[in-house]
Formats: sequence, C-alpha cells, structure tokens
Amino acid sequence: MDIRTVGIVGAGQMGNGIAHVFALAGYDVLMTDISQDGLTKAVQLIDHNIERQVSRGRVTAEAKAAAMARIRTTLKLADLGPSDLIIEAATERETVKQAIFEDLLPHLKPETILTSNTSSISITRLASRTDRPEKFMGFHFMNPVPVMQLVELIRGIATDEPTYRALLGVVEKLGKTAASSEDFPAFIVNRILMPMINEAVYTLYEGVGSVKSIDEALKLGANHPMGPLELADFIGLDTCLAIMNVLHEGLADSKYRPCPLLTKYVEAGWLGRKTQRGFYDYRGEAPVPTR
Ligand code: NAD
Repeated sequence: MDIRTVGIVGAGQMGNGIAHVFALAGYDVLMTDISQDGLTKAVQLIDHNIERQVSRGRVTAEAKAAAMARIRTTLKLADLGPSDLIIEAATERETVKQAIFEDLLPHLKPETILTSNTSSISITRLASRTDRPEKFMGFHFMNPVPVMQLVELIRGIATDEPTYRALLGVVEKLGKTAASSEDFPAFIVNRILMPMINEAVYTLYEGVGSVKSIDEALKLGANHPMGPLELADFIGLDTCLAIMNVLHEGLADSKYRPCPLLTKYVEAGWLGRKTQRGFYDYRGEAPVPTR
C-alpha cells in the first residue's frame, strides 16, 4: 500500500518527534491532541528542532520550509479519517488508547493501517478491539525521535504480512532501522531497560547511593551515555511506572514490582523533565538532584 498521509494522535514528547521525522521524509502529517496549547507548542518545538538541524548543516532551509508546510493540526480526531497510516502516541494508558481507536474507527478508510507507539501495552489486545486486527501493529519510536536510529516493529497475533512489509518500507523511507519484536509485555528495549531503571530507583530508595553517585556509577562504570535516573527523567517517570506495571501484571513475576519511590515521585507530579522536576530539579541553570 502506498502511504502518503499520516495521522498522529497525541502531540506530546513522542508525537511531535514523530511528526518531525515524517514531515522531513516527505509525508503529509495531520496531528491531533486534546489540548490546543499542546498542538501549538508541538509545532513551535518542531520548528525549533528542525532549525537546529539547519544550523548544523544537516537539513537545508528549503527542506525545513517544505517539512513545516506538510504539518497540519486539528482538535478533531475525526479529521484524521482520510489518513493512510495512523500513529497513536497519546498517554500510556490502555483506556485512553482504546477510546481513541473506538472514536476513530467509523471515520477511517478500510485500507488504513492502525499503529500504536505504546511502550508496553499488548498490541494483540489493542488490535482485537478494532475492526482490523490484521492491519494493526506496534510502531515503537525511541525518544528523542529525530535522533534515535531504532524503531521497534511489533506484530500482534493477527497482523498480516502486507502490513508488516508496508511499515518496514516506511521505516526505510525515514532512514531508520527496524527491530522486530514479538508481542510480549514491553517488547525488547523496555523489557531490558525499565527493570534497570527501576533497580536504580530501588538503589536510591534503599540508600545504597545518591542520585549523583548512581548516575555517575553507570556513566563511568558501564559506559552509559546517561545515568539511569537522568534517563528516567528524560523518558517521564509516569511512563516508566506505567511500563513497570505492565511488566509486573503481564508477566506475573515479582521481580518487576515498581519501586515505591518511583510511585511516590509520580504521585507528587514530579514526572521528570516534562514537569521540570523528577530525580533532578530542572528549574534552575543546571539540574540539581532532588535526593
Ligand atoms: P506525553 O505525556 O508527552 O504526551 C502525551 C500526549 O497525549 C499529551 O499531549 C496529551 O494531551 C495527549 N493525549 C492524551 N489523551 C489524548 C486523547 N484522547 N486524544 C489525543 N491526545 C491525547 O507522553 P509521550 O512521552 O509523548 O508518550 C506518548 C506515547 O509514546 C506513550 O504510549 C508512551 O508509552 C510512548 N513512548 C514514550 C517514550 C518516551 O521516552 N517518553 C518512548 C517511546 C514510546
């Protein structure tokens, strides 16, 4: 199937990055969110981020202007109906995602491919509630989308080969690399990454190390480009907690229990960079550890 138009649901951290790379690759993008403010900020951020690529000589000013002209926004989910491909990148909550697909279905063309950027929720279960489980896939981008090379492609039990092939073609056109994962909780990257982040929070909770010593230990001792707590702030602590809950419930193994300290940060609304406070406080010039 020839994919030219892409509808993106959710204009948060991931939605705006996804819109950015699709517009630069020549796709027409229509992005929706429940908040007009969110949509306005997303377009400003995309403009700012592509401008940075222009200043580094990676994108021409003409390519930037063409990409920005390909991005449109709407508050009406139904406007995404004529899209060839839908990428759902809304909040990591199953009821939110199910409601989005339910509201969208009556407006879609029969051949439209449906995808979710979920980090952890069962693709098979999301797909089973739609009218086209064979045309439904997990399309998992990494954060920040314009920088990260990998895209995980997750086939639900019913996903057909043409849909998988179509998405492989899209990944290629984006200039990225696909890793295929079976549909089990949190797929590949987060199945491995999140328990490590959760263990770092336990290490903090039990007083084994401070925020600074834990992050420095993994950066200098394991050659990680970012410490696990810094990375958790970057991903969003609510997203980290949601993924741990999916692992815990989906695999029914106590080794995946979320650390109570992670829950506490989320309950406080200290969700990391996006709220300016998490394991670090970002409100000043330089990040300051909060513990
Ligand atoms: P975010 O909180 O930055 O953005 C979520 C956006 O969804 C918000 O703008 C919110 O207003 C919007 N939204 C909520 N309900 C909606 C609805 N009914 N209709 C339209 N928009 C709605 O979250 P994010 O980090 O961008 O995560 C989005 C998705 O991407 C999640 O499924 C998450 O698991 C996944 N993901 C996140 C990361 C990461 O590092 N943050 C990486 C890969 C995948």
